[in-house]
Amino acid sequence: MRDHSPPLCPEWESTSPGRSARYQALLESRRQLPVFPHRDVVIHTLRRHQVLVLVGETGSGKTTQVPQFLVEAGYRRVACTQPRRIAAVNVAKRVAEEMGVQLGAEVGYTIRFEDVSHPKRTRLKYVTDGMLLREAYGDPSLTRYDCILLDEAHERTLNTDVLMGLLKSVLPRRPELRLVVMSATLESGKFTDYFDRAPLVNVSGRMYPVRIEYMPQPVRDYLLAAEEAVMRIHRDEPPGDILLFLTGAEEIDSVCDRLRWRVRTERDSRSAAALAPLLALPLYSALPPPKQQLVFEPPPPDGTRKVIVATNVAETSITIDGIVYVVDPGFVKSKIFNPRSRVESLLVSAISKASAQQRAGRAGRTRPGTCYRLYTEASFQQELAEATHPEILRSNLATVVLTLKKLQVQDLVHFDFMDPPPPETFMRALEMLYYLHALDDDGNLTQLGSRMADLPLDPPLSKMLLESDRFRCSDEATKLAAMLSTQIVFVRPRNKQAEADAAKLRLMSEAGGSGAGDHALLVQVFEAYLRHGQSTRWCYEHFLNDRALRHAVHIQQQLARTLHRLQVPLISPGVRAPDRWLRLRQCVLHGYFMQVAFWRRGKSYTIVRDEQTVFLHPSTVVQHRPAWVVFHEFVLTTRNYIRIVSEVRPEWLLQLAPHYFDEREYADGASRQALQRLGRYRASK
Ligand code: ADP
Ligand code: MG
Repeated sequence: MRDHSPPLCPEWESTSPGRSARYQALLESRRQLPVFPHRDVVIHTLRRHQVLVLVGETGSGKTTQVPQFLVEAGYRRVACTQPRRIAAVNVAKRVAEEMGVQLGAEVGYTIRFEDVSHPKRTRLKYVTDGMLLREAYGDPSLTRYDCILLDEAHERTLNTDVLMGLLKSVLPRRPELRLVVMSATLESGKFTDYFDRAPLVNVSGRMYPVRIEYMPQPVRDYLLAAEEAVMRIHRDEPPGDILLFLTGAEEIDSVCDRLRWRVRTERDSRSAAALAPLLALPLYSALPPPKQQLVFEPPPPDGTRKVIVATNVAETSITIDGIVYVVDPGFVKSKIFNPRSRVESLLVSAISKASAQQRAGRAGRTRPGTCYRLYTEASFQQELAEATHPEILRSNLATVVLTLKKLQVQDLVHFDFMDPPPPETFMRALEMLYYLHALDDDGNLTQLGSRMADLPLDPPLSKMLLESDRFRCSDEATKLAAMLSTQIVFVRPRNKQAEADAAKLRLMSEAGGSGAGDHALLVQVFEAYLRHGQSTRWCYEHFLNDRALRHAVHIQQQLARTLHRLQVPLISPGVRAPDRWLRLRQCVLHGYFMQVAFWRRGKSYTIVRDEQTVFLHPSTVVQHRPAWVVFHEFVLTTRNYIRIVSEVRPEWLLQLAPHYFDEREYADGASRQALQRLGRYRASK
């Protein structure tokens, strides 16, 4: 292959004297990273080959250093993908600091609803895999970049998998393009084979031995067991920081609170005065960036021990030094798609063996460590899957299909996926998009479908938003979409549940009572937040998450701008209009008609079509047991719940989605009977 890459910067090794002391100190620590000696091999290999696979332990410097090598080697437009937003933001900040440049200029990042990069000046951009895919819409060969790094490829996220397939088809068309696939685990053979025996660079990290301890018996409550494990380590084990893996923000915040409280009370009681202070730090995506940065800072030198309570983001995406103890309950929250019911949900499920090994590895970065697995050795051996199932095999492919159609990939079935999803899943996705009118009878993207692909939202939400002006409530719809795209805003502290519920009821009565539904309540909360000047104090008094609401305001502004660009007028029936929430509910149904359930006597609710029995989530404000409801999501915890629910009138079903509710399309069953009753009722009127 011809050598297309630009020459190396000759002045690279000489450290320019004008640089600050901070820059020099960082440079010194960068030189210690295991990936550093591989710099020349990486650059030289890319002169002769288009694709390079780079494998290295977490913490070896792949994410922060390799893109810098490429910039230094003269590549001008480098993109490095990240599956997680939190990692893209964090790493971009770190790298801007290491390079001594301003974030948003030479180094930047792009995540959903936030672009901190400069179209001309940015040479290195960290970008979520989903956003890079979106950039490919207008530029299917990604000509904007001369070098792309797919990071965390071992995670096999849906978007990374699609990007791999896309780039594989772009490479022959763009011989000057360079691709680096970076991965943390040893499944590298799969990547080198996929890219036609691409060369492999293996970065051997320095790893200290990690002792594994199992539970003798299965634990009943992993949160409690995790808390106990941390307390025991803190009391009995020599100094060294702790990393505890939990599944989500709520869990993490409450365990942090509990740990702080327990250490405080033990330290206050005289008998345990010898207990050192414990600094409990959460780490998850929705945390504001300055709080995220705290996990990297050394604890105060008074013998304080740090415990970082993190989601899976700490497994490979973000490296924290100084961890000696890992507590691994063995769970992760991940997406599961049920193709039969078309419902995709986030479920807490068991991790894989590969994941457990990665987690344990976090304890051995600076010195020998210990990993406490809160499960038995037998369940590790017998119950855990070898590797995590690629996301593409457990997702709703509607968004992927929409993306591929937008990228003008005609033959979906023969698209070169590393692990092709089963054809039924594709059929389901095509069917869903057809029902949404995103595809026509021939499977081609409609005008609506093309516009739906432009919005970084799930297809039903995009549809709801894009056609909200028909219901004269596009203003309300953007607010709702923003609230649905942020974290849950309602806070319910364990010791103040009644007060929190009462505060919610007050907000609800302002929204026109429980009949208005959960969707209306979200819009009402959004508006009340603005009316009170986005006051933190007001949020606190009303048990609302200030940060989530601020984020929602930001998203709403972005969405309003996008709608303006797509020429959807922003209109409202008016705050006092009696039919305001009714219009909103119709508008929601227009997008979410595939998520409708009906009341069955003695049975609770049943989802139309798949006939799954579900219950209204306890958080709902809907109390009057309507016959038909539309719901936003399906959550499986101790029961099958539907969350964020509003009443819909049965006649709307036939008005808004007659093609979906045509009883002749249904096999005999409860759904069909319900629709038949509905048809008769309608005929009698
Ligand atoms: P890899 O991608 O191979 O897992 P990274 O490039 O992410 O490794 O991290 C390499 C090292 O850089 C880490 O071990 C850590 O010491 C340091 N580092 C990365 N991000 C930060 C940060 N935000 N603050 C402080 N140190 C960091
Ligand atoms: Mg990394």
